[in-house]
Amino acid sequence: VAPSSEVVAFAPGRVNLIGDHTDYTGGLVLPMAVQLGTTVRFRPDPAARRIRFVSDSELEPADLPLVVSQPQSVTPGWARYVAGVMAEVGPPAGGKARISTTLPIGSGLSSSAALEVGVALALGFSGSAVELAMACQQAEQKASGVPCGVMDQLTSAGGVEGRALLIDCRSLDVEAVALPPECEIVAVHSGQARQLAGSEYAARRRDCERAAALVGHLADASVADVTRLRDPRLRRRARHVVTENQRVRDFAASLHAGDVAAAGEIMRASHASLRDDFEVSTPVLDALVDDVSSRPGVYGARLTGAGFGGCAVALTAPGALEVGWKLVPSRGAWVRGGGGRGGPIS
Ligand code: ADP
Ligand code: MG
Repeated sequence: VAPSSEVVAFAPGRVNLIGDHTDYTGGLVLPMAVQLGTTVRFRPDPAARRIRFVSDSELEPADLPLVVSQPQSVTPGWARYVAGVMAEVGPPAGGKARISTTLPIGSGLSSSAALEVGVALALGFSGSAVELAMACQQAEQKASGVPCGVMDQLTSAGGVEGRALLIDCRSLDVEAVALPPECEIVAVHSGQARQLAGSEYAARRRDCERAAALVGHLADASVADVTRLRDPRLRRRARHVVTENQRVRDFAASLHAGDVAAAGEIMRASHASLRDDFEVSTPVLDALVDDVSSRPGVYGARLTGAGFGGCAVALTAPGALEVGWKLVPSRGAWVRGGGGRGGPIS
């Protein structure tokens, strides 16, 4: 790296069309990278042993040593994600970094993964999209203490322009899926900040692990298998995962067939399952999904992301919803400058 040559990385956010709380059990998800994302500009200084990060979205800058041993106790809090990435990437030089984003933060469109992937690329991560995603998943787990799956990071790293991604979270195989023409994806914020998301997320993950200890891998289980679970709570949790995996398959098939009405029905069923069986919705999100679903030209809607507030996503006819963010399936993260490597990662 030539001294003071700027490296610019961009990492998109993502919206999950269907398949929530299935990634960490090795199941199926169907997100897409979006046109909104986070830009990280890094100016390396080979003489410096620290990196100073400034975010346009935060008052307090962060000044971090090159070796961060405890990312989860870094201040300010937002820099924990950055510190988690530094612990994974091990940047060779200090310098200055500036972060800006077009994503809403903390709303379920994965500004955290966009931050991690953007910082990792700006600081010189080299590797495949899957390797980048796994490093950033580790970073997020270290930073937040939330045992998150790999969906957000893999979508940001591996997005494909004009396509959603059908991801098998066990094999990490990714299939690009076209959306039917003449439809829109719209995210609408519930107005509710996400609460309890961390502790409840961990509790759901534990429930899934307990269920899997009794019936085997949930990604391989059938509804009949999980119906045998005695504990009613574990039965509901596992039933969500098993039926959600099937809904992801059915949703992908509906997209292939161009059947937006069927795809919308499946989204509504997903919301009901997240509400009743997985218990990660809120009355505000339920009301929003009901309201949005009843509008003319809306094929279906559901909460998206982990739940407990944040956004709903809707599949609509063009122009049917005049609120929220109209989201376009977009390419994954890219970096230019630095070592001269440009363009998207593969
Ligand atoms: P989401 O990923 O859905 O937006 P999270 O709660 O997972 O919500 O992550 C949001 C957190 O990530 C913020 O509270 C902040 O700490 C950090 N973050 C994300 N984007 C930025 C940014 N551009 N600048 C500073 N911090 C950010
Ligand atoms: Mg996040």
